[in-house]
Amino acid sequence: MSSVVRKPQINAYPFEGEHVISLMVRHHLYSGIRDYGNAMSCLTDDYKQPVPYDFSRPLYRDIYEAFAPSMNYETFLGKYTPYYYYAPFLPASLSNQSSDKRQSAKNINRVKCATQWRHCGECVKDDIKNIGEAYYHVAHQIPGMSHCVKHGTPLFVPCNCCYRDLRLLHWIGLPHESHCPKCHTTYNNLDGYMDDDIEWILRTSLRFLNNEFPGLNLSILQQAYRDYIGVDEIEKYSSMIDKKRLTKAQRELDNYFAPALYERLFDRTSFNGNRKFVELWISQMTYSEKITVPICHLLMIRMLFGEIENIPNLMS
Ligand SMILES: [Zn+2]
Ligand SMILES: [Zn+2]
Repeated sequence: MSSVVRKPQINAYPFEGEHVISLMVRHHLYSGIRDYGNAMSCLTDDYKQPVPYDFSRPLYRDIYEAFAPSMNYETFLGKYTPYYYYAPFLPASLSNQSSDKRQSAKNINRVKCATQWRHCGECVKDDIKNIGEAYYHVAHQIPGMSHCVKHGTPLFVPCNCCYRDLRLLHWIGLPHESHCPKCHTTYNNLDGYMDDDIEWILRTSLRFLNNEFPGLNLSILQQAYRDYIGVDEIEKYSSMIDKKRLTKAQRELDNYFAPALYERLFDRTSFNGNRKFVELWISQMTYSEKITVPICHLLMIRMLFGEIENIPNLMS
């Protein structure tokens, strides 16, 4: 009897910027095994819910270990998952990946299309031409991402008449250009309201995904927010004056951008009377253990500082 433990084999190697779960769908496809779960269960127990938005989960760790690549785990996460996009906005207790619990921002479903797999028709053409296959790019799965920054074209979402749950990639399969391969109708695209601020959010989101601001973290941001608002503490404010200052800052954030921008980014289900969108709540961004969708921080940063580089103490 041999004591050598054979590593489970993966039938595919990740393409540039490919989401780990897209890789798993290709693994399933090449395996010849009919059922997705059967193709996956030798690699990981965490194969259910193949969704685009988790920044941490056991699946990612298991696939990393099955590959045993020469890069470290964080680098792997950075290349093949949305991890770096979230990293600067995570509470300190979560910003190293030791726990590997399944994690995403609590209110991810309030950001429009954030839970759906998206693709760019032009990228699909390029990928087929250059490598012979289409796949899902991490860059297109960032919450709020509605356009391909490389091609400037609106992204497509899968056909909702053919696929029951648009979050689950093993149902949907690999991306096609602009038409559903089953019913041949044109995919819905995410074209819509666009202005300088949305364009900035899309571009800046990609810069986060590329880990361009390793010096930024949640405590620097929260300090900058408190300094701007003029309070020492937000989680439990001590006086009516503090409360008034916070309310004033909230009103500014709710009205700083074009009304159509909020509508474009957030789901209408989060509309709440006189407050515009409940997800865009400054206090939530300052709770030390809360994971807020980064797009809220991006809007706050845009309003207060214009550019990431202007955030105080970024380089310290
Ligand atoms: Zn593209
Ligand atoms: Zn269809």
